[in-house]
Amino acid sequence: MKSNPHLAVIGAGAFGGWTALHLLERGARVTLLDAWGPGNSRASSGGETRVMRGTYGPDQPYTEMAARALKLWAKYERRWKRQFLHRTGVLWMASGRDNAFERGSVEMLRAAKIPFEELSTPQMHKRWPQIRFQGIQWGIFEPECGYLDARASCKAVVNAFVALGGQYRQIEVFRGGLGTALPRGVKLRDGSWLKADFYVFASGPWLSKLFPSIIGNLIQPTKQDVFFFGIPARHALYFTDAHLPVWADHSDRFIYGIPGSGRRGFKIADDTRGPAFDPTDGERVVSAQTLRNIREYLAFRFPALKDAPLVETRVCQYEQTPDNHFIIDRHPASENAWIVGGGSGHGFKHGPAVGEIVAELILKERESDAKWRLDRFRAKRVLSS
Ligand SMILES: Cc1cc2nc3c(=O)[nH]c(=O)nc-3n(C[C@H](O)[C@H](O)[C@H](O)COP(=O)(O)OP(=O)(O)OC[C@H]3O[C@@H](n4cnc5c(N)ncnc54)[C@H](O)[C@@H]3O)c2cc1C
Repeated sequence: MKSNPHLAVIGAGAFGGWTALHLLERGARVTLLDAWGPGNSRASSGGETRVMRGTYGPDQPYTEMAARALKLWAKYERRWKRQFLHRTGVLWMASGRDNAFERGSVEMLRAAKIPFEELSTPQMHKRWPQIRFQGIQWGIFEPECGYLDARASCKAVVNAFVALGGQYRQIEVFRGGLGTALPRGVKLRDGSWLKADFYVFASGPWLSKLFPSIIGNLIQPTKQDVFFFGIPARHALYFTDAHLPVWADHSDRFIYGIPGSGRRGFKIADDTRGPAFDPTDGERVVSAQTLRNIREYLAFRFPALKDAPLVETRVCQYEQTPDNHFIIDRHPASENAWIVGGGSGHGFKHGPAVGEIVAELILKERESDAKWRLDRFRAKRVLSS
């Protein structure tokens, strides 16, 4: 390992941007490339907001990772004198029928030292009368979590990266030749080549297109519809983040929302994986059926918003892996290339922690943890080759 190796990071979303910054802070020379820019409208990191939570169920690495990410978000907020995490608290609503996920979460939250309260339905009703708690038996409230400014923080990470001496270019990397070793480097849209000592492909939902034989259907972009409802003037304050936490309803399907942030309306979405979606050419129009389902849900759970007008919509895509776990691994045919992605609908909050892990793996020449390696799919026969 050279003392200051040159690294090329492809993709400036939540995973690539933070990876580039951590590598640079550890003394590497880093070139960060993005076809459309950090947090662009096609990117999975491109929404206004993303949930920051530690509730993740039993036996998983993400509560601990969220605890580390919380510390890192706070550290960079202090350093850059900017707020990204709005600490509104996150309320997780559980039904009594099947609450193994929530029961398991409690132990994990305790171990990771993420503050939380277990609340009964009457306690929740007293605090948040805006919510109808029918079918909900209990809840987990994480007071120090909330929501993150998504696209704004991606841009801030790249700005900080450039201010520290990193090189950022808005240009596409061509897919040709990426299935094998990379002796000439990567080919760019203008026909030039970029040669580095190491390559990190953090290209989100595009990883399957860049690496059809290695990733292929291990990352499936799925269409996710997001809705913003206008809060009626008489309830203006009641439904903003001053009075309501971020919430997640796990009683039936998994539906979640972020109360009116930055006057943008009441955000609500269904976490159920949608149909396959093309992140480059897909038309970003929400489905009428999903809108009907969401309206029905809104009237049930938030009765005062029954007739709230739809003021905005967004279509984004999850980069879904078969087991919901990330992919952080070396390219199987190229010792000096790494693949980082598969956020599977929950990656954004972990960006600073994932970037730190990847930087340490590469610069200390370590292998990734088994749970994020590609060969886990081979073991389960998901990989066809
Ligand atoms: C609707 C929705 C809600 C979500 N909610 C949450 C949430 O509440 N909490 C949470 O933690 N996570 C959430 N997620 C998941 C999270 O947003 C993603 O897991 C995360 O943003 C993925 O980041 P990424 O860097 O891997 O990918 P991306 O953000 O897609 O970044 C990849 C980048 O690579 C660039 N790129 C691609 N191909 C090339 C190429 N050939 N050359 C150069 N550049 C290229 C793209 O332009 C893009 O900027 C949500 C996702 C969606 C869609």
